[in-house]
Amino acid sequence: MPPEGLTRAQALERLEAFLPRAGSAYARDRNIDPGPNDTGHVSKLSPYVRHRLIGEWELARAAEKAHGAAASKFIDEVCWRSYWRGYLEMRPALWASYVDYLLSDEAETARQTDTYCAAVSGQTGIDAFDVWTAELITTGYLHNHARMSFASIWVHTLRLPWQLGAAFFLEHLLDGDEAANTLSWRWVAGLHTPGKVYLASSEAIDTCSAGRFRPTGLAHTAAPVPMEPPVSLSPLAGPLATPREPSVLLITAEDLGADGFRLGDIRLAGIAAYVSGKAPVGAAIAATAQTLAEQTDTEVRLFDTPDELAAAVAAFGAGSLVTSRLPIGTTRTDLLHLLGRMDVPVRLHERTRLWDAIAWAAASRGFYAFRPVIAHLMALTDPGGFQDRL
Ligand SMILES: Cc1cc2nc3c(=O)[nH]c(=O)nc-3n(C[C@H](O)[C@H](O)[C@H](O)COP(=O)(O)OP(=O)(O)OC[C@H]3O[C@@H](n4cnc5c(N)ncnc54)[C@H](O)[C@@H]3O)c2cc1C
Repeated sequence: MPPEGLTRAQALERLEAFLPRAGSAYARDRNIDPGPNDTGHVSKLSPYVRHRLIGEWELARAAEKAHGAAASKFIDEVCWRSYWRGYLEMRPALWASYVDYLLSDEAETARQTDTYCAAVSGQTGIDAFDVWTAELITTGYLHNHARMSFASIWVHTLRLPWQLGAAFFLEHLLDGDEAANTLSWRWVAGLHTPGKVYLASSEAIDTCSAGRFRPTGLAHTAAPVPMEPPVSLSPLAGPLATPREPSVLLITAEDLGADGFRLGDIRLAGIAAYVSGKAPVGAAIAATAQTLAEQTDTEVRLFDTPDELAAAVAAFGAGSLVTSRLPIGTTRTDLLHLLGRMDVPVRLHERTRLWDAIAWAAASRGFYAFRPVIAHLMALTDPGGFQDRL
């Protein structure tokens, strides 16, 4: 069962419990998934990292401190998240075309098929797949190898559109991340690296599920990949000066404070929290805002409509909202839409954490080209600091 509300204390506790396994044991065993009732070989920290209750840099540094060079596999995996984020930031068209597809008649027709209904209710009769469907729905988590195999069976064996599978994951994963999810599904389908698809095999599933599953009837050939026009790179937003006027700190599901909001230069008039997402995430947003309000002796307002946000900004007497960078995805789309519907316009000032600024700028090509920047990220004095404070 997922926790009722995600907290930083849970994340730190989980990290401490996992650390002894973050070195050579992780490199050796990370693909083995003994099932949800076993501690397993991975950290299960993804919901906390996703919502920035803990930063990638905190995981990476703790692992390096505990294991030195033997932590490199774990650090690489942590950096995959930062890489995927940057990759999508530079290619917003990939997210836009995925969202467009979900709204299309073709997607609606596919949702009406027996195959789709069997897949999302765990009634395909395929060993492993149906168990993973139930596990995803009840726990909000799946092991990475299960995600790869599930996505492969969805696309290549069941021949369902990858976009509907990605949407099914985002609906249930507590770590649902627009970048890692969309781009991983594209990779499985063969859209990420030309000529490469991920075809799940019964043998690999047997090994990686620690002998729990050995499905039969899996596809040996990939589903055809639709041709896509090349996507041009969009520039990343650069650093901005901190607003001089009184501002409202906007807290969203994208950044719940990690190791601090670094409020130093901000003239804090109040805190507004945009409550969205699944129940444990919504609870975490409200709790983060409340704690920060107590620490800074300010007031907090929760909102999810333009009127509520307008009332908060007016009550605080502020002219701008200051928030951590809103990456490409649902929160950004919804908030920009909401701001666009406000009668009195409010300026939105986004601050990018240094870790993100450096990692994202290096994600223009493949992960191999990105890897050298990991040493630079690990050497930063304050990776959780914000770029505009340079
Ligand atoms: C089809 C598919 C969909 C996915 N969707 C998501 C998603 O919505 N959100 C998400 O966070 N990850 C996603 N992943 C990546 C990966 O499966 C999860 O990050 C990982 O399983 C989380 O478990 P963990 O915390 O135990 O990871 P660990 O192995 O303990 O790794 C530590 C942290 O590193 C990051 N990480 C590890 N592996 C990856 C990876 N391959 N890609 C990106 N980040 C990684 C995560 O933040 C993770 O918490 C997806 C992978 C696939 C194949």
